[in-house]
Amino acid sequence: MAHEVEHAALNRYLESKGLKQTRQREAILEVFLEAVGHVTSEELFQRVRESHPSIGYTTVYRTMKLLCEAGLAHERNFEGGVTRYEIPHDHHDHLVCVRCGKIIEFECQMIESAQEDIAKRYHFQILRHRHELYGHCDACRKGG
Ligand SMILES: [Zn+2]
Ligand SMILES: [Zn+2]
Repeated sequence: MAHEVEHAALNRYLESKGLKQTRQREAILEVFLEAVGHVTSEELFQRVRESHPSIGYTTVYRTMKLLCEAGLAHERNFEGGVTRYEIPHDHHDHLVCVRCGKIIEFECQMIESAQEDIAKRYHFQILRHRHELYGHCDACRKGG
């Protein structure tokens, strides 16, 4: 099976919570890992349905919460109110196109260290931060 490491991690997490591994949870994890970028549970549900028509939206939604708790998915709440999920990777921030919905990831060391300077100035301990820049992507700008 593809993504053995992730499936094993989910298994361990479910066991630790006294929950059972199910074919449905396996299938949802697999579809999530194959999806690219920042997906909503609705998008995942549409994809899961193609191969597993018996899986309902609620199961997808709840499984995504489990995957987040297990550290296999990262929840992002961008403007607009729809929760999106991405595969956890190195710290990054986002540019969000408000026209086509494209999400671009970026990393900027200057921003990261500027934040640390600001925190120091106010004797503030940063636990986390998010940067989301909203605007029009290159394609949308050119398309008028
Ligand atoms: Zn766009
Ligand atoms: Zn991201």
